Amino acid sequence: MRIVVDRDKCEGLGMCEAMAHEFFEVGEDGFVELLDERPAESHRQDIAAAVDACPVLALSLAD
Ligand code: SF4
Repeated sequence: MRIVVDRDKCEGLGMCEAMAHEFFEVGEDGFVELLDERPAESHRQDIAAAVDACPVLALSLAD
């Protein structure tokens, strides 16, 4: 599993960080940073919830 960020869409709203702070962090530049781009499958549920929480659809999952 790989987390994909569309930095053109990210508005730094921080919903992803609130849902799964181990994997997402809003940087000082106002864009999300991935703390672990290829997380273990065991984290899929938490990460999928964070991806779904992004209000501007900047996040997606790839296999
Ligand atoms: S929830 Fe979406 S817009 Fe907000 S920081 Fe995360 S990726 Fe960016």
